[in-house]
Amino acid sequence: MAIKGGDLAKLLPKVKGCKDCGYPTCFAFAMKVASGGEDIGKCPHLDPALREQIREMLAPPILPVTLGKGDKALVIGEEEVIYRHEKTFYHQPGIGVLISDKESESDWERKLKSVLEMSFERIGRTLRPNVAALWAESGDGTRFLELVKKASQADPDLPLILMAPLELAFKALEICGKERKPLLYALTKAELDGNLAKLKEAGVPVAVKGSFEELIDMTQKLKGEGIKEVVLDTGTRNIREALKEQILLRRAAIKQEFRPLGYPTIVFPCFMTQDLEEQYLYAGSFVIRYAGIIVLSELVPEYLYGLLTLRMNIYSDPRVPMTVESKLYEINAPQPESPLLVTTNFALTYFAVASEAEATKLPVWLLVQDTEGLCVLAAWSTGKFNGETIGMAIKKMGIEEKVKSKKIVIPGLLARIKGELEDELPGWQVIVGPREASGLSSFLPELMGRR
Ligand code: SF4
Repeated sequence: MAIKGGDLAKLLPKVKGCKDCGYPTCFAFAMKVASGGEDIGKCPHLDPALREQIREMLAPPILPVTLGKGDKALVIGEEEVIYRHEKTFYHQPGIGVLISDKESESDWERKLKSVLEMSFERIGRTLRPNVAALWAESGDGTRFLELVKKASQADPDLPLILMAPLELAFKALEICGKERKPLLYALTKAELDGNLAKLKEAGVPVAVKGSFEELIDMTQKLKGEGIKEVVLDTGTRNIREALKEQILLRRAAIKQEFRPLGYPTIVFPCFMTQDLEEQYLYAGSFVIRYAGIIVLSELVPEYLYGLLTLRMNIYSDPRVPMTVESKLYEINAPQPESPLLVTTNFALTYFAVASEAEATKLPVWLLVQDTEGLCVLAAWSTGKFNGETIGMAIKKMGIEEKVKSKKIVIPGLLARIKGELEDELPGWQVIVGPREASGLSSFLPELMGRR
């Protein structure tokens, strides 16, 4: 937030003993508003013009833009930092495919199917592309409108980019519907002036294209009209220059707090190179360096998987460890006489253990203990994963009712807790497992006498 709670409190009316906002004092209210936890509109005594000024001060340096609707809605922007480690990046870029009206209908179908159906599972998350850019390349308006119809029918919520001259884009809007919030791409300075009122009425996000000076001029005009959902395209199709511009735009918005450039961006690796491998390399650079939407000419699963994984990694919150639910998992349909494995709820640890155990095809129970997302050794060194905590988890979850074998396998890295766990769990056999999850492939068959 661009204003601190103490400074905000000075702007509030301080009506004696009022509490109409639900807070005991103006200061308490100001602190909550400044942290993003409350709406400034809750103070009814604030002058409306000042309220708007405060809203402006509270707005993130890069404004959010939403394309599409429902579960598939794509939110971009709203970023607050230049480097992820300073806090976190909030909204991962949309990754999508370009579909030209010059392509055949079977290509339209194939590409729409790819953007709608291609997905990958990675440490418990589903990764997928999320936007289709429809391009009026042929010059035949009827053909473009057919493409828009096809894409609209393929899925009612898929975020769309309408890449067409403005008049044609307005016609396309009638087909796909304004409520779907497609992005109109891209207004030039010459097109903007006569169309501001129409754009405002449409109420959909708008992309603007031009030099930095032109972008500044256009975003200010759009803002004057109350249009805040804007996406920037510098028009550069050279990777080196385009990356430099992404960095300049981010720094201008965040370091210099220069509001006219405080909007998310769109980039087109598909127009930078014909080579698909290069496109995906460029796309990876744009994931790291700030693009809001990245458009590719084809969705190729073997390249896309890496790109989506990179996006997930860059846009996961570094302050919050990735965790899985702490509970008793069943692997390969375990029976009461099956052994119990135990590990922590750090997502990577869980998936490594679970997938290795699954691969053995042997039935086992897996207790995932809550260690606040810490891995085995870190959790042990902070007292969150030891004989006492494991013993408590087993009793609390009623595991003794299910696991009649009373055999528990602890990670080999924690062989030292064997004795204390035996003290916690009288009658249980505590077995030291392999140091790495990969060792389960030989360890479990041996333990269960399948060799
Ligand atoms: Fe202060 Fe306004 Fe809250 Fe009243 S409603 S306590 S004036 S912030």
